[in-house]
Amino acid sequence: MQRMTRQREVIRDAFERLGQPLSVQEAFEAAQEDLPQIGVATVYRAINDMVDDGWLVPVDLPGESTRYERAGIGHHHHFQCNGCGRVFDFEGCPGDLGRLAPDGFEVDSHEIILYGRCARCVTDS
Ligand SMILES: [Zn+2]
Ligand SMILES: [Zn+2]
Repeated sequence: MQRMTRQREVIRDAFERLGQPLSVQEAFEAAQEDLPQIGVATVYRAINDMVDDGWLVPVDLPGESTRYERAGIGHHHHFQCNGCGRVFDFEGCPGDLGRLAPDGFEVDSHEIILYGRCARCVTDS
Protein backbone atom coordinates (compact mmCIF):
# COMPACT_ATOMS: atom_id res chain seq x y z
CA MET A 1 0.00 0.00 0.00
CA GLN A 2 1.58 3.23 -1.10
CA ARG A 3 1.75 6.34 0.97
CA MET A 4 -1.23 8.53 0.22
CA THR A 5 0.30 11.91 -0.36
CA ARG A 6 -1.72 15.06 -0.71
CA GLN A 7 -0.84 15.04 -4.42
CA ARG A 8 -2.22 11.57 -4.98
CA GLU A 9 -5.30 12.38 -2.98
CA VAL A 10 -6.00 15.34 -5.25
CA ILE A 11 -5.58 13.18 -8.36
CA ARG A 12 -7.90 10.50 -6.99
CA ASP A 13 -10.42 13.17 -6.10
CA ALA A 14 -10.32 14.48 -9.67
CA PHE A 15 -11.26 11.07 -11.07
CA GLU A 16 -13.97 10.58 -8.45
CA ARG A 17 -15.38 14.09 -8.76
CA LEU A 18 -15.49 14.22 -12.55
CA GLY A 19 -16.57 10.60 -13.02
CA GLN A 20 -15.36 10.52 -16.60
CA PRO A 21 -12.29 9.15 -18.37
CA LEU A 22 -9.35 11.56 -18.12
CA SER A 23 -6.09 11.80 -20.02
CA VAL A 24 -2.93 12.64 -18.08
CA GLN A 25 -3.33 16.23 -19.27
CA GLU A 26 -6.98 16.42 -18.22
CA ALA A 27 -6.24 14.88 -14.82
CA PHE A 28 -3.37 17.35 -14.45
CA GLU A 29 -5.64 20.32 -15.18
CA ALA A 30 -8.31 19.04 -12.76
CA ALA A 31 -5.72 18.42 -10.02
CA GLN A 32 -4.31 21.92 -10.50
CA GLU A 33 -7.63 23.39 -9.37
CA ASP A 34 -6.97 21.98 -5.89
CA LEU A 35 -3.19 22.03 -5.92
CA PRO A 36 -1.86 24.69 -8.31
CA GLN A 37 1.78 23.70 -7.80
CA ILE A 38 1.33 20.04 -8.81
CA GLY A 39 3.52 18.92 -11.73
CA VAL A 40 2.46 16.94 -14.77
CA ALA A 41 5.22 14.35 -14.12
CA THR A 42 3.72 13.69 -10.67
CA VAL A 43 0.30 13.17 -12.20
CA TYR A 44 1.75 10.84 -14.82
CA ARG A 45 3.55 8.74 -12.19
CA ALA A 46 0.53 8.64 -9.89
CA ILE A 47 -1.73 7.47 -12.71
CA ASN A 48 0.71 4.70 -13.64
CA ASP A 49 0.77 3.57 -10.01
CA MET A 50 -3.02 3.63 -9.83
CA VAL A 51 -3.16 1.43 -12.94
CA ASP A 52 -0.66 -0.98 -11.32
CA ASP A 53 -2.81 -1.00 -8.18
CA GLY A 54 -5.88 -1.81 -10.26
CA TRP A 55 -7.67 1.39 -9.25
CA LEU A 56 -7.62 2.86 -12.77
CA VAL A 57 -7.94 1.16 -16.15
CA PRO A 58 -6.88 2.56 -19.53
CA VAL A 59 -9.50 3.71 -22.02
CA ASP A 60 -8.23 3.77 -25.60
CA LEU A 61 -10.36 5.54 -28.17
CA PRO A 62 -9.31 5.54 -31.83
CA GLY A 63 -6.84 8.32 -32.61
CA GLU A 64 -6.77 9.55 -29.02
CA SER A 65 -4.12 9.50 -26.36
CA THR A 66 -4.92 7.02 -23.60
CA ARG A 67 -7.41 8.09 -20.99
CA TYR A 68 -8.01 6.42 -17.64
CA GLU A 69 -11.07 5.71 -15.59
CA ARG A 70 -12.04 4.02 -12.34
CA ALA A 71 -11.80 0.25 -12.47
CA GLY A 72 -14.77 -1.92 -11.65
CA ILE A 73 -17.56 0.38 -12.77
CA GLY A 74 -19.04 -2.36 -14.94
CA HIS A 75 -19.87 -2.69 -18.60
CA HIS A 76 -20.51 0.68 -20.19
CA HIS A 77 -19.69 2.75 -23.24
CA HIS A 78 -18.25 6.14 -24.09
CA PHE A 79 -19.37 9.38 -25.66
CA GLN A 80 -16.82 11.77 -27.13
CA CYS A 81 -17.70 15.41 -27.63
CA ASN A 82 -16.69 16.83 -31.01
CA GLY A 83 -16.76 20.30 -29.45
CA CYS A 84 -14.51 20.09 -26.40
CA GLY A 85 -13.03 16.63 -26.99
CA ARG A 86 -13.97 15.36 -23.54
CA VAL A 87 -15.07 11.76 -23.08
CA PHE A 88 -18.01 10.71 -20.92
CA ASP A 89 -19.47 7.41 -19.79
CA PHE A 90 -23.04 6.60 -20.55
CA GLU A 91 -25.33 4.00 -19.12
CA GLY A 92 -27.04 1.43 -21.18
CA CYS A 93 -26.02 -1.06 -23.78
CA PRO A 94 -28.08 -2.48 -26.64
CA GLY A 95 -27.03 -5.90 -25.39
CA ASP A 96 -26.21 -8.87 -27.51
CA LEU A 97 -24.84 -7.56 -30.79
CA GLY A 98 -23.90 -11.02 -32.03
CA ARG A 99 -26.88 -10.95 -34.39
CA LEU A 100 -25.11 -8.23 -36.42
CA ALA A 101 -22.14 -10.42 -37.23
CA PRO A 102 -22.05 -12.46 -40.44
CA ASP A 103 -23.64 -15.89 -40.37
CA GLY A 104 -21.48 -18.44 -38.63
CA PHE A 105 -19.38 -15.83 -36.80
CA GLU A 106 -19.13 -15.61 -33.02
CA VAL A 107 -18.86 -12.24 -31.26
CA ASP A 108 -16.80 -12.11 -28.06
CA SER A 109 -17.04 -8.43 -27.17
CA HIS A 110 -17.99 -5.03 -28.52
CA GLU A 111 -17.11 -1.37 -28.24
CA ILE A 112 -19.59 1.42 -28.80
CA ILE A 113 -18.48 5.04 -29.07
CA LEU A 114 -20.99 7.81 -29.63
CA TYR A 115 -19.79 11.11 -31.09
CA GLY A 116 -21.59 14.41 -30.81
CA ARG A 117 -21.67 17.41 -28.52
CA CYS A 118 -21.92 17.33 -24.74
CA ALA A 119 -24.63 19.27 -22.92
CA ARG A 120 -22.24 22.13 -22.17
CA CYS A 121 -21.17 22.48 -25.82
CA VAL A 122 -24.80 22.30 -27.01
CA THR A 123 -25.74 25.07 -24.57
CA ASP A 124 -22.75 27.23 -25.51
CA SER A 125 -23.43 27.16 -29.23
ZN1 LIG B 1 -18.24 19.33 -25.12
ZN1 LIG C 1 -22.20 -2.89 -24.39
